[in-house]
Amino acid sequence: MSKAHRGSGIREQVKSGRGTCPVCKKTGIKVLYEREIDGTKTQICKRCNATLHRKQLNEKQAEKQAQKQAEQQKEKKAEQPAEKKVEKKEEQQAEEQAEKKTEEKAERKEKEQEKEKDQE
Ligand SMILES: [Zn+2]
Repeated sequence: MSKAHRGSGIREQVKSGRGTCPVCKKTGIKVLYEREIDGTKTQICKRCNATLHRKQLNEKQAEKQAQKQAEQQKEKKAEQPAEKKVEKKEEQQAEEQAEKKTEEKAERKEKEQEKEKDQE
């Protein structure tokens, strides 16, 4: 591995790779670090490269944490309606059973009434 950011390698470049950093506007600094800023690759200085690298790491970690939290919330949300559905099913079954019982009772009553009529 050659030294990409110091030594004889950069002396061949214009002004030994020195210039003005587009991020911190520092002049006479080595701008040898390529970073994507707003989708375009730009050469920036060592310090801005480090800060941007840290920012990107933090953003990635924040994204991961946000995804984890979102997944956990989704799981919670998915669990809650399922429980409610089960309760609803039980309620519906209870209601249906109650309806059946009332229907049966009504039928019995009708039959009894018919019997009474026959007896008369
Ligand atoms: Zn800079």
